[in-house]
Amino acid sequence: MTARNPAAPDRGPALRLLSLGAGVQSTTVLLLACEGEIPSFDAALFADTGWEPRAVYTNLDRLTAHAERNGIPVHRVTGGNIRTDALDPKHRFVSMPLHTLNPDGTRGLARRQCTSEYKIIPLKKTARALLGYPHPRRVPRGVYVEQAIGISIDEIGRARDSGLRFLRNVFPLINLGFDRAKCLEYLAERGFGQTVKSACVGCPFHGNAGWRWVRDHDPHGWAEAVEFDRAIRHGYPHATGRGQQLRGQYFLHRSCLPLDQVDLDVPARGKRHLRLVTAEPEGDEDDDPDGCSPWSCRSGEPVTDPAPHTGPGESAA
Ligand code: SF4
Repeated sequence: MTARNPAAPDRGPALRLLSLGAGVQSTTVLLLACEGEIPSFDAALFADTGWEPRAVYTNLDRLTAHAERNGIPVHRVTGGNIRTDALDPKHRFVSMPLHTLNPDGTRGLARRQCTSEYKIIPLKKTARALLGYPHPRRVPRGVYVEQAIGISIDEIGRARDSGLRFLRNVFPLINLGFDRAKCLEYLAERGFGQTVKSACVGCPFHGNAGWRWVRDHDPHGWAEAVEFDRAIRHGYPHATGRGQQLRGQYFLHRSCLPLDQVDLDVPARGKRHLRLVTAEPEGDEDDDPDGCSPWSCRSGEPVTDPAPHTGPGESAA
């Protein structure tokens, strides 16, 4: 694909892209574009961490076919496989927001660098390439991509700029006044009512509801998450192999218990279905409301107290 108007800086966006998470809101934006309710996109970009639930990939396949029938190509971009990279002693480790239990009993959260590494960087790189100015070519002033982000009005506080001159975020659902409930209704009417939330299978931001969903709907993913949780207890293999031992312990679950020992059914058994989210967050039961949307998270910033480490690579690599 070539940019429509790369040499004319003042004539609007050279490209229109959608950041497609394949969850409820961005799927709604894509279907709106397919139906001509909003301007179409030159492409939709899905940042694949390689560790999404199978239901997300199934939905993505279906969505890709639907979008392409309507003239919108869907590109999967990737920075690698977050699970296998994290467990590979030879791979530079990228910190996930793991829950940490320090030797003195205090708790913290490790830095979140994964959103940047596995989502933001590949998305930026692809946007530049599609624009015709791959890194390190300088994007001329006035040439930019308009990038649609699926944020609904109930999440308006998450709407942010990209921070990049060549990438300008727009928020069609906010302009249309769609909240999450309206998105769910819209999807159901078009046969996409089973759209599930997109996030890594082993994301430490899952609340009990999120973990229960993985356990009950993706047994293979659950087994991988339990194994991953054990494997990172004392740090990432890459760091520990270099003598950078963690002085505390890492956990996927916010209780700082081994994942397969957490009672995920108490006290909320039967309370609500988790992934077809319709309600406001309810504390530990729910996923972190900040979630992992690439363009609305605080990726790269320290989230809260990182756990102490003996080596510098563990907390800040
Ligand atoms: S979903 Fe969670 S683990 Fe995956 S990239 Fe986002 S913050 Fe990291």
